[in-house]
Order: sequence, then structure tokens, then C-alpha cells
Amino acid sequence: MAITPSIAGADFDSTLDLPTSGDPRHNATLTLTVRYRLVFADSKNRAGIIVTVEGSPRARDGTGFRHFILDWDGPTRLKFTRALWRAERIWSFKFLLTPPMRYDGLDLPHPNKGWKFRPNVLCAFRFVPDDKPHITVTAVRAEGAMAGAFTSHAARATPRDMVLDYNDPWRPTLGHELGHVLGMLHILALKGDKACLADANAERCYGEKDYEKANIMGSGRELWPLNALPWRERIAAHTGVAADEWSVSMDMTRAPTVIGNGSSLLDI
Ligand SMILES: [Zn+2]
Repeated sequence: MAITPSIAGADFDSTLDLPTSGDPRHNATLTLTVRYRLVFADSKNRAGIIVTVEGSPRARDGTGFRHFILDWDGPTRLKFTRALWRAERIWSFKFLLTPPMRYDGLDLPHPNKGWKFRPNVLCAFRFVPDDKPHITVTAVRAEGAMAGAFTSHAARATPRDMVLDYNDPWRPTLGHELGHVLGMLHILALKGDKACLADANAERCYGEKDYEKANIMGSGRELWPLNALPWRERIAAHTGVAADEWSVSMDMTRAPTVIGNGSSLLDI
């Protein structure tokens, strides 16, 4: 199957770039791109999520709780906007995919005559403001003692939406919600737990053991190779090689495999 260089998706776009330098030390890159529109919701711009309770504006969180909110001002808008510009760093260049030995579709000519090299695939992520967005990010400023308890959420159902509190970029929350946008369920579902695959929002699906809770798709910040799932699934769409045939490493320095003249990786 020929490689598909670009895929436009309902949830995100993707591009597979093979190295064009001819340098056999250079890997390929698979970039997932989520375009977003940012909406600041407050008493002046209710954005469908601000309600008035007993005369004061409040924002409903993912659990339905109605939090008191503050209005946005110039400095808070700017700080939050800039924090979203940096969000792609959470997921970008954390994983490297190695093609299965039987697959030679990425092979490129090596400077030595008759040799080839087989690049690995670096997993990149872009999160870019755009007026034709995949998702809307609605941001609120939850106020007071309950602010830390604002339950942010991301839904892939229509309308695609993410609701964030002002503080989320400085908590594990933003990376977790972006994980949902990329199609990941909570950690126990990622580990194959049947009950969590059926309903990943049950409390236990965020992890039962401490090390599970520490994962970004639990309630922590850690990334593990299983969090490369969105890239593994998408590289399958680009190459026709099934997701589970790609091995995941978090060593981003792994060099391409060099294949000498007349040799085949299947013979090694
Ligand atoms: Zn979640």
C-alpha cells in the first residue's frame, strides 16, 4: 500500500513527513494537528455554559456543579491564551514508533550505493488556533475555594468541545483533556479493562493503583508508551500497517536502521 502523506480528520489532521535530507540519521515525523477556537465565557459572554443562579453568574462543570465565576480581563485572557499556545509541548516529541521488520514502505536510499535506511517515526503534536476548528475550547474563571474543584471535560461528541478553568494549563488537566481530544480513554481503559472500555468515566477508570493514577490519563502527568495510541492508530491509516505492529519507544534519539547492500532486515 502506498503511503498517504496527509489525512484530514473530523477530530484532528495528520501528516507523515519522510526525511528529504538523504541523511541516514534522520527519522520521519507523524504530526497530529488539532485546530481550536478559544472562547472566554463569563457574565458578558455566556457561550452556552454560563447560567444565573440567585443573581450571580455561574459555570457548570463536567459533573453539573455550578461554580461561581469571575469575568475575564486583559491580563488573564493573555496569560491563558499564551498557555494554550504552549500546550502542544505536553504531547509533542514524547514517543518514537519503529516499523515492524516486515514493512519496507518507509525505506529510503542510503548515501552508500545499494544501501538503504529505515527511519523511525517521531510523534509530533500541534495545537493551533484556527477559524476552522476541530474543537472549541471554552474557558471560565472559577472563583473562590471551589475553583480547584472545577471538573474540566472534553467531549468528542457533537458539538466537539472542551471546557477548561483558568488554572488548568498549570495543572495536569490540560494534557489529560488533550489526550481525550486525541481519542484516548482513561488509563484503565487504555490498559484494556473491559468495564472501563464500556464506560471509561467511572471513578476507578482513572486508576486503582498509585502508579496508574500517576498516568496523564489517570490523574497525574506521566506519559507511558501506551499513551502513543493516537499516533499508532493514525500511522496505520497512513501506511496500512496495523497499529499494534508498531513498537513504541520514549527514546527520541533512536537512529534509523541501516540496511546494507543486498541484506534484508528479515534475514538478521
Ligand atoms: Zn478524563
